Order: sequence, then C-alpha cells, then structure tokens
Amino acid sequence: MCLVVGTCCRGFKENSTSDVIFSSATAKEVGQSLVQYFWEAFPAGSGPIDRTTYMFTYVDPQPGSPQLEELLEDYWDLMPKYQGVSFDDLEILRIIFGIFPTYRDSPLPAAFDRILQFGDASGIQSPVSFGGFGSLTRHLGRLTTGIYEALEGNFLDSKSLSMLNPYMPNLSSSWLFQRAMSAKKQSNVPPDFINELLFANFISMQKLGDPVLRPFLQVGIPVLLEWFGHFIMLGYYTFLSTFLDPTIRPLIESFPAKMRYEWKRGLEAWQYGAGLDYKLSPSEAHETAKRSDPSKEIFSTDSLK
Ligand SMILES: Cc1cc2nc3c(=O)[nH]c(=O)nc-3n(C[C@H](O)[C@H](O)[C@H](O)COP(=O)(O)OP(=O)(O)OC[C@H]3O[C@@H](n4cnc5c(N)ncnc54)[C@H](O)[C@@H]3O)c2cc1C
Repeated sequence: MCLVVGTCCRGFKENSTSDVIFSSATAKEVGQSLVQYFWEAFPAGSGPIDRTTYMFTYVDPQPGSPQLEELLEDYWDLMPKYQGVSFDDLEILRIIFGIFPTYRDSPLPAAFDRILQFGDASGIQSPVSFGGFGSLTRHLGRLTTGIYEALEGNFLDSKSLSMLNPYMPNLSSSWLFQRAMSAKKQSNVPPDFINELLFANFISMQKLGDPVLRPFLQVGIPVLLEWFGHFIMLGYYTFLSTFLDPTIRPLIESFPAKMRYEWKRGLEAWQYGAGLDYKLSPSEAHETAKRSDPSKEIFSTDSLK
C-alpha cells in the first residue's frame, strides 16, 4: 500500500515547476519499519503562490508499519528542506493524508451477482501512481458502455459483471515496481538502493529499451517469475489487440446478445490490458521521439539522485 501525507500551502515565491516523483534521501527507519520517502509537488489551482506538496512511501501492511502521524512529523521537518522554504512564511490551507490500499490481483472481479465494484473499490488504479481519478476517467467510456449493455441484456451474474473488471497485464506487471520501491528491513540491500534503482530506470526509460535487471535484486524470485508471466501476457494482449481485434470486431454485431456482450468485453480487455487505449497526441509523440534520442535532449537526473 501507499501512505501519503502533505499540505496545500500559500506563500511559495517559486511556484512554476512540478515534480512527479522526487527522492532526495536514502531509506530510513520509522517506528519498526524501513521506509523510502518520495515527494511530489505542483502548483495548486487556488492561487499563483499556492502549492501542493506530498510525501509518500510504499509499504507492505504489517504490524509495526509506520503511522500517518509519524510520517506527518517527518513531513514538517523535511518539506522545508525539499522546497527551500520555511513554514513560518507559509499559510497552511489544507493538510492532506491518506492510505491507498492495492491488491495484487487487481482489478477485483465481481464476487456476487448484481454487485459491481467501481472506482477505487474495483482496484483499477495503478499500484504505482495511485491516480485513481485519472484511471477512472480513462476507463469511464468502456465502463459506461459495458454497464449499460449488462443492464440491457440482464447479464448481471458475477461472471458477466467480472468481465467489466478483467485481468489486465499492464496493471499486474506494474505491481513489481511498487514492490521494488518499498524498502524492506530484512533485505540485504544498501539504503540508497531504491534511489539507484529509480535512477537506472529513468535512464533506461529515456533510452527506451535496455532491460533493467536491478529491480529483481530486491523483490525475490517468486515475484520476479510472476511479473515475467504478466510481461509475457502484455506482449500476448498487444498481439491479440493489434491483429485479432480487427478481424473479430466487424463480426461482433451478428453474434447472439450474450456472446456479443462477452466478445466486446474480451476485446476491451485486450486493448486496455495492453495499454493500447491510450493514444499519444502529436505533441506527446514528438516529445517521446525526442526522449528516445538522447542527443536531442538531456534528461536531468539530479532530482533523482
Ligand atoms: C492525498 C490524495 C491525493 C490524490 N491525488 C490524486 C491525483 O492527483 N490524481 C488522481 O487521479 N487521483 C488522486 N487521488 C485518488 C483519488 O482521490 C481517488 O482515486 C478517487 O477519489 C476515487 O474515487 P471513488 O469514487 O472511487 O472513491 P472515493 O472518492 O473514496 O469515494 C468513496 C465514497 O464512499 C463512501 N463510503 C465508504 N463506505 C461507505 C459505506 N459503507 N456506505 C456509504 N458510503 C460509503 C466514502 O465516504 C466516500 O465518500 C488522490 C487521493 C488522495 C487521498
């Protein structure tokens, strides 16, 4: 799960940049646990000098896990250093805290007839970013149509409803990254391991390619094997959605109602499970092309070190 604490404060003179993920310190002990803190900061919509800052960490829930209160105490100490400000110069508009649970087998299938989980309760959000609202908007079109068709056809048994929250290899494979970013007391890795891992990952993502083996050092062979299975499925779903979908889609309207409902959900599972629902805009495609060619743009890694 992910624990997050933070504030929205007024009084930031420098408020033109954002950090999606920032880490400036090695893993540290809080209570009986070892935690790696990450930060996020961005201008808030409420005013030009208002800024939201979050401190978050990934942990495995167990007795002795850090409490939000303990994290908030660290936040008051560390946030001024992170942002180069003093709380004496800031007006606290809002204090934010939360616990994001995540499930290894997300999204959660419907367990009962006529009952469907929706939003965060369905576990459809990324176990790394926990941006559940963004995730919900991404799936809204698919879910709206699917729920409408389930109601219209009276396909409200748990099996039919579960097809609205299908297995998605892209979601399952991102689980590994959360595991790799959780500090573990018993593991024999140095305290700067997670920062080094992130550094290597971001460099590799920039080059769009080189496999990064280091996450595997920390998570263990069983998790690695499970992740590898999801990774294979990701390729399989990409193949199915790219090549089989166009062959089947034109025939679907001629199928009987239940079969049509099931095939539509199946095609959606391939598409969303492979991440092919997301279309890059021309400007985003241009940015990606630039990033894949390091000679055109230098990726700053200072913030990750
Ligand atoms: C600090 C923080 C920052 C976040 N930042 C982002 C972000 O930047 N981008 C993003 O996409 N997402 C973000 N999220 C996540 C986002 O807020 C959630 O994914 C989203 O609110 C989920 O919406 P939901 O309707 O599924 O669930 P919720 O918003 O949790 O709504 C569930 C509702 O059900 C009610 N409820 C619970 N049990 C019962 C019951 N038994 N009977 C009746 N009512 C009940 C709850 O009180 C609640 O109002 C953030 C979350 C937090 C905590």
